[in-house]
Amino acid sequence: MESLDAKKFGGYDVYFLQEHSDKYECPICIMALCKPILTKCGHRLCLSCSEEMRKRNNGVLVCPLDNTILKPEETFRDKAIERDILQLKVMCNNFLKKCQWTGELKAINSHLGSCEYEEVKCLNEQCTTSILRKELSDHMETKCIYRLINCQHCNQKILFCEKQNHLESCECLPLYCVNQCGMKILRKEISSHIIDSCANTIIFCQYFSIGCNFKGMRKEQGTHVNSSTQNHLLMAISKVVALENKIMINEEEITSLKNEMEMRKKQDTQVDSLTQNQFLTTSKMIELENKILLIEKEMNTKMTISNNEKIYLPEEYIDDDYNNDNNNDEDNNDYNNDYNDDYNDQNEDYNEDYDENHNEDYNEDYNEDYNDDYNNDCNDYNDDCNDDFNNDNEDYDEDYNDDYNNDYNNDNDD
Ligand SMILES: [Zn+2]
Ligand SMILES: [Zn+2]
Ligand SMILES: [Zn+2]
Ligand SMILES: [Zn+2]
Ligand SMILES: [Zn+2]
Ligand SMILES: [Zn+2]
Ligand SMILES: [Zn+2]
Repeated sequence: MESLDAKKFGGYDVYFLQEHSDKYECPICIMALCKPILTKCGHRLCLSCSEEMRKRNNGVLVCPLDNTILKPEETFRDKAIERDILQLKVMCNNFLKKCQWTGELKAINSHLGSCEYEEVKCLNEQCTTSILRKELSDHMETKCIYRLINCQHCNQKILFCEKQNHLESCECLPLYCVNQCGMKILRKEISSHIIDSCANTIIFCQYFSIGCNFKGMRKEQGTHVNSSTQNHLLMAISKVVALENKIMINEEEITSLKNEMEMRKKQDTQVDSLTQNQFLTTSKMIELENKILLIEKEMNTKMTISNNEKIYLPEEYIDDDYNNDNNNDEDNNDYNNDYNDDYNDQNEDYNEDYDENHNEDYNEDYNEDYNDDYNNDCNDYNDDCNDDFNNDNEDYDEDYNDDYNNDYNNDNDD
């Protein structure tokens, strides 16, 4: 039932406890006046009835009792009558449904807001049921098809009307195994049950990998294994033999690969030592060539000194051989210069090649070591040579002077 104020127009549609004066009744709606107005012709109308009538009559309000035309300023609210009406005693609108409430008209709206016999709509949004307020909670808790319930299997909240749909897919609903093993399994565990434990699942014999092709229900496997022990043993033996052969072949392969590896290691070592030897040989060669050069230089110096000494002798005593020797001295110097040039060229060429073919680190180390060694050797050698040469020179001078003096004396005697 609509609230009394919410009606579009009209007076109070209520049940009064006592008869009341006609002056409380609207001539338009024939109900108790609601917000009454008094007209200039002395009649009363509900405010809403007067507005509705003016609207329907192109803005003109005519008194329904005496046809007086009433301008808006010719009516006014009658607060005194309104107060009287609101104090009249009424019964609850739901008295036919056994509501016992009675009270002043002005209190009826607040009573209807909580009247147990008032018809109300179910609070579940999708539900269209209207029901007495006193039955609402029972409806919503136990009867409404849009009430929320817990699934007893998965404990999810679902609408009561969707329970059937939910059970068709509920993962926790226990179902009989499709293999008809007689067990009830949760829907989500059925596939693992069938794969891992169902007694009726058809599986291969556990000795499939050694060649048994028996297939049967899981519960029959025990009987099969017990009755096929001999066969399984034979299969196992031939499998072992085959594996042994395979292992042997693999071992042979491993051995031959190991040998090959050893051979390659040896070859690598040989190549390393050959490379090392090549370096040593080359450096030794350079060392020897330098020594030869020094020796040749020393020899030339020695020969020049011995020829120069001859200058202090009388010319007639200088023999041809000795002159020839002196001339040869120039040749020797030329030869030495040529040799030095060639040697330097070779040395440069070698050093360039060597730099190209070897890394810088090695060169630095090698050059430092080599230079140290070489300088030490050269110094030693120079010391030795100087000593030897001085000795030789002294010997030679003594011998030559003796011989010359003897010859000269002999010639003089002659
Ligand atoms: Zn009215
Ligand atoms: Zn009137
Ligand atoms: Zn009531
Ligand atoms: Zn409902
Ligand atoms: Zn469920
Ligand atoms: Zn099963
Ligand atoms: Zn088997």
